[in-house]
Amino acid sequence: MIASSRWQTWARRTVRRLGAIGAEVCFPGICCGCGRLFRLPRRTEQAVTFEQWMHRFLCEVCVQAFQAVRSPLCPQCGQPFASPHGPDHLCGQCQERPFRFSAARAAGLYEGGLRTAIQQLKYQGRDALAQPLGRFLWQTLGRHWEPAQFDRVIPVPLHPRRLRQRGFNQAAVLVREWPLLAKRQGHQVPPDWIDRRTLRRERPTQPQTGLKREERVTNLRRAFQVNPHSSGPGVKNLRVLLVDDVMTTGTTVDACAQTLMAAGAAEVRVLTLARAVVTQG
Ligand SMILES: [Zn+2]
Ligand SMILES: [Zn+2]
Repeated sequence: MIASSRWQTWARRTVRRLGAIGAEVCFPGICCGCGRLFRLPRRTEQAVTFEQWMHRFLCEVCVQAFQAVRSPLCPQCGQPFASPHGPDHLCGQCQERPFRFSAARAAGLYEGGLRTAIQQLKYQGRDALAQPLGRFLWQTLGRHWEPAQFDRVIPVPLHPRRLRQRGFNQAAVLVREWPLLAKRQGHQVPPDWIDRRTLRRERPTQPQTGLKREERVTNLRRAFQVNPHSSGPGVKNLRVLLVDDVMTTGTTVDACAQTLMAAGAAEVRVLTLARAVVTQG
């Protein structure tokens, strides 16, 4: 009797194990970085690192190519410096012409697996990436600031026409779980914490690539507006966190910050998943 029940347990376990191996062979992961098939690792621990958050979407090689943004960096715009030595210090651009936001931080460099994951989310509409990337961004927020120190979280808006084409705003999907995560971790945030109505993109902007900073500023001037029809209290005296997927030159978030500050915001900070390294000229 005992022998038979042991045998049954063994048989059940073996079948389960064979099933898992079969599933791995028949349904391997397709790396969203390089397109190769890879073995999905079985992980149950609490995700902390980029690798752990993205292990179902990126192969080992692509996930290892992630580079966190590290000091030394500019304490205002968050731009990391090429040399890995020395303390944080204001970059040339922030000394010369400070941005309207008071600080910007990003999780990683816009390279490797992070770059392709963002592109897959944004241009291929791979919605399954929104959750791990959004949670990873939430964790990055907690590394730099307290969630409750912001009265509003504003995803950088798309122009309505672009929104119709794409069907979603990538910045907004990154923060959609944040109220739930805040609640779970006991942070006190208002019910209208995620604010998708106040800031609007009034004009579609020309591609910014290849433009000088001054031209980019002109290109974006008056591109954003605080919606006068929004039923909310606006942003007067509020501390705002602007969220976007990638920050390159900072001109877009700067234009948003300018609009919000002109509407009376007390402070604007910026958080992005990725930071593209730009050579300052
Ligand atoms: Zn890969
Ligand atoms: Zn700077």
